[in-house]
Amino acid sequence: MIRSGAAPEATPLWWQGQRAPVALPMLAEGEPLPARVDVLVVGGGYTGLAAAREVAAAGRATLVLDAGSVGGGCSSRNGGQVAHSIKPTYAALTRRHGADLARRIHAEARDAVAHLRRLATEELLDCDWQPRGCFHGAHTRRHFEAMVEHVRGGQPPGLEQRVTIVPRSEQRTEIDTDFYHGGCVYHDDAAIDPPRLLRALLARAVDRGARIVDHCAVTALRRTRAGFEAQTSRGRIAARRVLLATNGYTGALSAWHRRRVIPIGSYQIATERLGKERVRALIPHGRNISDSRRVVVYYRPSADGERLVFGGRASLDEQDPLVCVPKLRRMMCRILPQLRGASITHAWAGFVGYTFDTLPHLGQNDGLYYSMGYCGQGVPLAPYFGMRIGQQIVDLPEGRTALDGLAFPARPYYHGRPWFLAASVLTYQLLDSLGI
Ligand SMILES: Cc1cc2nc3c(=O)[nH]c(=O)nc-3n(C[C@H](O)[C@H](O)[C@H](O)COP(=O)(O)OP(=O)(O)OC[C@H]3O[C@@H](n4cnc5c(N)ncnc54)[C@H](O)[C@@H]3O)c2cc1C
Repeated sequence: MIRSGAAPEATPLWWQGQRAPVALPMLAEGEPLPARVDVLVVGGGYTGLAAAREVAAAGRATLVLDAGSVGGGCSSRNGGQVAHSIKPTYAALTRRHGADLARRIHAEARDAVAHLRRLATEELLDCDWQPRGCFHGAHTRRHFEAMVEHVRGGQPPGLEQRVTIVPRSEQRTEIDTDFYHGGCVYHDDAAIDPPRLLRALLARAVDRGARIVDHCAVTALRRTRAGFEAQTSRGRIAARRVLLATNGYTGALSAWHRRRVIPIGSYQIATERLGKERVRALIPHGRNISDSRRVVVYYRPSADGERLVFGGRASLDEQDPLVCVPKLRRMMCRILPQLRGASITHAWAGFVGYTFDTLPHLGQNDGLYYSMGYCGQGVPLAPYFGMRIGQQIVDLPEGRTALDGLAFPARPYYHGRPWFLAASVLTYQLLDSLGI
């Protein structure tokens, strides 16, 4: 019998009871936005803030607008897991793009993690960096064998990660369950506190002179001879350059981007305080956990080590996170039946941005800059590619990346409403349940 307890709070655990992740000074009613800026950034998450810092540091008048609270999209709702984050394997990318580009794309993922690590440990960015690694569990015996093969021979040359293979017989040193068929520990993975990272990136952008305004949607963009004219909920702005940093929240503003980014819901729950000892008994080294299923789950102890925070694709587009609680609970208790009696105190969700080739994309289309499509891995990728696209906007050579110039694929009949997802996820769930 699974205990349901009182209704959970429908806000991220990390918001600590606040109604928004960041409280900015309110723009007074009637106070105008600047009539013109050099660079307008649409979207105030990790991508937009990291880009704004680079652009403002280069002396450009920079304005970031967010339709809601700054960071109120994914950038304060995520699980805080930092992993080597390019989805296609080196072998798959080699088949698509050749070995050299495949290796360079994987090097970007390594650089993204290294960038965040450097910000946290050298610039002392206040984001609660916890370098505890990740245990990646094998859903089947066959998945375990494939993992071992990948670790031993499938990594890009010179970019091998520090990995320990953990056979099923030793798995309880990592997680107190028999659910997995062994797994691997990725030692370079880490965890951060999502809103603290957001606030730190915000402070870095503001320090360099970027202006940030929340609750101000950009509703239309029009090309002009000098750049763009943006229609916003607070009036018009002329901007020489515009960056779209809207990821899974990309709406009707740019039909071209909307045809290329697939918004997919990601959902999380937090248990009641279980106590540090109980959490340590479940996950002795306090690592992040993920597994090899196609329909992903990810979880970890909360930063204070008192709770378990569990996430997954419990739905595709449900807006009310409370609806997904029973399903996520069942998913969690299948892996850790010890948690059957635990109450759920928080539930929340957000929309990640997927792409048809499961790669992130950045660059320029018809003069409009963009960086998006991190496929649920934006904690390291969004601050990094945000920085790179900011550097590209101000024409700095270090802004170049291995992803530049890569075609950003669309699909016929897709215009922003992912009608095909339900069928794809059902197929993936079937394959997962058959252990294929
Ligand atoms: C539940 C959940 C768990 C996750 N867990 C992880 C994890 O553990 N590890 C990991 O690497 N990644 C994770 N992610 C993904 C990660 O959080 C994102 O990839 C990353 O935050 C993307 O940052 P962003 O700045 O590009 O987009 P967002 O943070 O989503 O910001 C986009 C912003 O654009 C704004 N916007 C949209 N349209 C307009 C407009 N017209 N005008 C003005 N503003 C607009 C939105 O209001 C929004 O604030 C998770 C995501 C979710 C939802």
